[in-house]
Amino acid sequence: MNASEFRRRGKEMVDYVANYMEGIEGRQVYPDVEPGYLRPLIPAAAPQEPDTFEDIINDVEKIIMPGVTHWHSPYFFAYFPTASSYPAMLADMLCGAIGCIGFSWAASPACTELETVMMDWLGKMLELPKAFLNEKAGEGGGVIQGSASEATLVALLAARTKVIHRLQAASPELTQAAIMEKLVAYSSDQAHSSVERAGLIGGVKLKAIPSDGNFAMRASALQEALERDKAAGLIPFFMVATLGTTTCCSFDNLLEVGPICNKEDMWLHVDAAYAGSAFICPEFRHLLNGVEFADSFNFNPHKWLLVNFDCSAMWVKKRTDLTGAFRLDPTYLKHSHQDSGLITDYRHWQIPLGRRFRSLKMWFVFRMYGVKGLQAYIRKHVLLSHEFESLVRQDPRFEICVEVILGLVCFRLKGSNKVNEALLQRINSAKKIHLVPCHLRDKFVLRFAICSRTVESAHVQRAWEHIKELAADVLRAERE
Ligand SMILES: *Cc1c(COP(=O)(O)O)cnc(C)c1O
Repeated sequence: MNASEFRRRGKEMVDYVANYMEGIEGRQVYPDVEPGYLRPLIPAAAPQEPDTFEDIINDVEKIIMPGVTHWHSPYFFAYFPTASSYPAMLADMLCGAIGCIGFSWAASPACTELETVMMDWLGKMLELPKAFLNEKAGEGGGVIQGSASEATLVALLAARTKVIHRLQAASPELTQAAIMEKLVAYSSDQAHSSVERAGLIGGVKLKAIPSDGNFAMRASALQEALERDKAAGLIPFFMVATLGTTTCCSFDNLLEVGPICNKEDMWLHVDAAYAGSAFICPEFRHLLNGVEFADSFNFNPHKWLLVNFDCSAMWVKKRTDLTGAFRLDPTYLKHSHQDSGLITDYRHWQIPLGRRFRSLKMWFVFRMYGVKGLQAYIRKHVLLSHEFESLVRQDPRFEICVEVILGLVCFRLKGSNKVNEALLQRINSAKKIHLVPCHLRDKFVLRFAICSRTVESAHVQRAWEHIKELAADVLRAERE
């Protein structure tokens, strides 16, 4: 493909994408295919002679689209939102064109510098404490990670290194292995599975603190665990507090937990993967109170802030905690500015070496929506979730399971888990809307998450009518 064909095909592709987005509502949100559907539809090996662009684009509708779950359909209410906007898609095109690998400042100065500034812009939108910003050449700063899971892992590994150095400085005879055996990290029992996984990958114990009646981690349960574990000779070193849990969007009590972590010299990482985007609205900012106690904070603009995957924003108060933990300087990666103190080499902040120019997406989105546009977007979703909540509350057969704070509604039929499982099964086999469940303690619960950029009140109402009809079927079947 040469530049002139690229011009033509690029315009066709933009039309295809715009048509896809405009027509997405007419597509069945969840596909009909069975596992293994795709292999028989394509050749067993790559073509020896080139195919044409037409061949490929025709196959997109024939082979790919039938197996796509349409995450941006206004009838998609599963998981949490994943961001999508036209400015972000356009910026991603440019990112692909520049195609730099921004592991160090010298590897592409704009890639590094725009990221630093965008992370400050975003930090200011959230009113993050100044200690997390890079602006005044302080000790803090932000970095774009690929995912919240990576951010948690990076924080855990940095915390692990930090505590090992601290203990070895006091007692040089201690081996790393002897220390690691005793290290223990904590999160609430509602934390995302990626937290447990970070513990597995990091080779340290991770303990779940029982959450309270509102699914929040509280001081008393944490204190109890700390006392028990310290008495058993363990070394508490790391805590993940969650703001906006994946199951039910509950909030750990940072104002209680934070000071305990500080007093115990434990690294506090705050995971606000979904809810973080809402903190750009002054009326939701109080949910972030207590972040001042944290060592690192992370949320996903790629969930709810219109910046397409991947873009996970992580800030640390002391960037040397990260950069000192994993630093290696082979000759081929060295450059003349690296020790000037003026620049950032993001390769020291993350696990991979390579990194894309992801801040372009933030720059385009923040400028084309403006903070006000982004706030309006969040508010609209929160309003829609409350609309769904009030529909549910009007029907005495149903109950709301947790206070609705942002864009997620956890609800169920009053009655057994079996009847709720049957309802979810009917919903997801009808494929008009898509939901996923969760367990809250021993209860099977349906999650209704406001997801799509284009979802409106009419979609929410249609979804509710549909759920009610299926619920009537389930209840009738149960009586028979
Ligand atoms: C979605 C989610 C994650 C995982 O996010 P990734 O970016 O996919 O790793 C982690 N924590 C919470 C609370 C989440 O909701």
